[in-house]
This record gives sequence, structure tokens and C-alpha cells, in this order.
Amino acid sequence: MIVEKCNGLSVQILPVLEDNYIFLIEDLRTGALAVVDPTEASPVLDVLEGRRVDLILNTHHHWDHVSGNTEIKRKTGARVIGPAAEVDDIPGIDRGVIGGDTVALGEHIALVIDVPGNTSGHIAFWFKEAGLLFSGDTIFHLGCGRVQEAMPAQMWTSIDKIRKLPPETLIYSSHEYAADNARFALTIEPDNAALLKQIARIEDKRQAGMPTVPSTLATELAANPFLRVDRASIRSRLGCMESANWEVFAKLRRMKDAFRELKNL
Ligand code: FE
Repeated sequence: MIVEKCNGLSVQILPVLEDNYIFLIEDLRTGALAVVDPTEASPVLDVLEGRRVDLILNTHHHWDHVSGNTEIKRKTGARVIGPAAEVDDIPGIDRGVIGGDTVALGEHIALVIDVPGNTSGHIAFWFKEAGLLFSGDTIFHLGCGRVQEAMPAQMWTSIDKIRKLPPETLIYSSHEYAADNARFALTIEPDNAALLKQIARIEDKRQAGMPTVPSTLATELAANPFLRVDRASIRSRLGCMESANWEVFAKLRRMKDAFRELKNL
């Protein structure tokens, strides 16, 4: 069980299934509690030991992010908040939200950011004051989500929004994909010192059985190729010096999809 405290909030990371993370966010002053993307209910209910849950926050409708909704809601009275565009696919949803909406957790406010790409209605929750972003399957440590229900240009716009947040923002993404992402990133930027430093950190963390989540936005800007498609080093490697950022992003994402299939990941 990993608990990090950050500017009045604590975040507990629950690893579930093969590579999913469920997050428990607590407002330390009021004790208000939120669960982010509950893949399943039982690991959450086990650590809660009967505590009340105020909110369930869903970043998107995929089963590995919502399947715990109904049971946690029934046992704790939590309200379920998720993307307005996906209410029909989210079990137990009470409130659909869109970019610009706010969600209160105790004395903290999360701002909703629209980040379509992995799903067409995907949202992220940004606790601006505390400096935390719950990004779901949008960006991962050294990688990004697969573009499944939108166009690559839309996914790029979503990633570009995240690029503009404060660099010290802690990014809590919903999967542990860092080692696989690192292998691909290394084929794109083999000489990137920031990337090499992260690869060493990932090896240390995984050997110790620890999550690589969260990382900071500053780290991703320095080491994650999907946030660096405007860099000459990446553009020349991909042979697209004159392309728009989204086109370079789209090519990079296609290369990653092919890399996954090649490695049978
Ligand atoms: Fe997922």
C-alpha cells in the first residue's frame, strides 16, 4: 500500500489485475474521500474498512475503469461522476461532466479537462491547487494511451493540453506500462539523458515491487517521446521535419502499435 501526501491531499495507490491502478484520494482536513477508476470493488472495500466514500471519479467508460462502481456505490453511498459523453456506458453514474466543470472533494476542487483519444469522451481530473492530475488512459509514464475512439489529431490536442499544465504537476495515470513504454522510447531517442535516467528509476521501482506512478509533467516533457513530437531529434528520426505536430504524433503512435504487436505485448 503506497500513500503519498501532497498539499493537503493524500493519494493511495491500489495495484489491481495485471497493470491497473485504482487511486484513493483523501482531503486530509475534512476526510472526504474519492476513488478514481475502480477496476473492481473488493480491493477498495478491503482497504476502506467501512469508511464512507464521497465520490467515484471515472475518467472514461472502459470496463477496467468502471467495473467497481456499482458495488462501491451501494456499500458506501458514493456519488459517481464521469464524462457526460459516456453516461450510457458508465454503471451507476449520477453526474456527467465536461471540460471546465468542477468537482469538489472536501475543500479541494478538481477541474475537468476534456482529453478525447483513448475514448471519445475521455476526461482528466486536475486538482490545480494540490498539483495532481488523474489522467486515466491519456498519458502514461513515457507513453500514451492507444487512440481507439477518436482521431489521432484529437489525441494530440488532448496531450498538448496536458503539456501546458504546470511542470511540477504529479501525473497519476491508470496503468503500469512504464517498462514497455521505456523499451519503445529508447528506439526513438536512444541518446536522451532524461530518458536513460527514468529507465534506471523504472528498473529500481519495479524490482522493489513499487509503482512508477506518479511521475511529474516535467519528467514527461523531458523523456516521453509522445510529448516531444515538436523536437527536431524526433522529427528527423521519423523523417517528418515539416509535418504538423499531430502528424508526427500519429506516426509515432502507429509505430508504437506496431512495436507492441512485434513484441507480442
Ligand atoms: Fe485502461
